Amino acid sequence: MSTRLLNAVSLRLRNAAEAADRPVPRLLAVSKTQPAEAVTALAAAGQRAFGENYVQEAVAKAAALGETAGKLEWHLIGHLQSNKAREAAALFDWVQTVDRPRLVDALARHRDRARGPLDVLVQVNIDDEASKHGCRPDQMDALAQAIASHPTLRLRGLMVIPTAHDDPELARPSFRRARALFERLRGQYPAVDTLSMGMSGDAEVAVAEGATMVRIGTALFGARPPK
Ligand SMILES: *Cc1c(COP(=O)(O)O)cnc(C)c1O
Repeated sequence: MSTRLLNAVSLRLRNAAEAADRPVPRLLAVSKTQPAEAVTALAAAGQRAFGENYVQEAVAKAAALGETAGKLEWHLIGHLQSNKAREAAALFDWVQTVDRPRLVDALARHRDRARGPLDVLVQVNIDDEASKHGCRPDQMDALAQAIASHPTLRLRGLMVIPTAHDDPELARPSFRRARALFERLRGQYPAVDTLSMGMSGDAEVAVAEGATMVRIGTALFGARPPK
């Protein structure tokens, strides 16, 4: 099951990249609400990077996975409250949802120097939705500068979640704007190499518009159990 779905998603990404003459993006497996066993199975099939939305759920899952957890790369892709920054900086390898100066400071302060820098993405609220987290596009530069000033953080790029549409084509202009912001950032910071965008429903369009990492849940694990 896991191998079959992983192969299908990998093929989708390769085809999308080839059709658009773009590099194949990295695949982040979004394991939120999935049990530890589902992570183990996908890891056995060769998947290394996993995304979680909640710190508490990720802590419990990592504990259940034991030694396996340390061999995987963990990304936080859900909103992070500053009072959870300590736990997040201890568990995760990447935080993709950095969207305000206070969170930058909290993550920088709590990241253990011995572990090496925490990789971070600035989350931009690309469609300016009241219901979504993320900074405004005009706040990106100041946040990037703040991140770059901390030796315990490493700025790797941008993450966006466009408005959900039934037709993925409708997200294309948002992906395109994200790409333009990303290129500007990449011109300024040497470690920037990651544009995280695209999910199960719109990965092809995201890849065509320049995603270097896609975040896939449903297409890899099946539908999430209702909460
Ligand atoms: C749940 C989630 C995903 C994955 O969505 P699917 O449609 O299941 O692929 C990607 N990114 C974020 C931020 C999410 O919360």
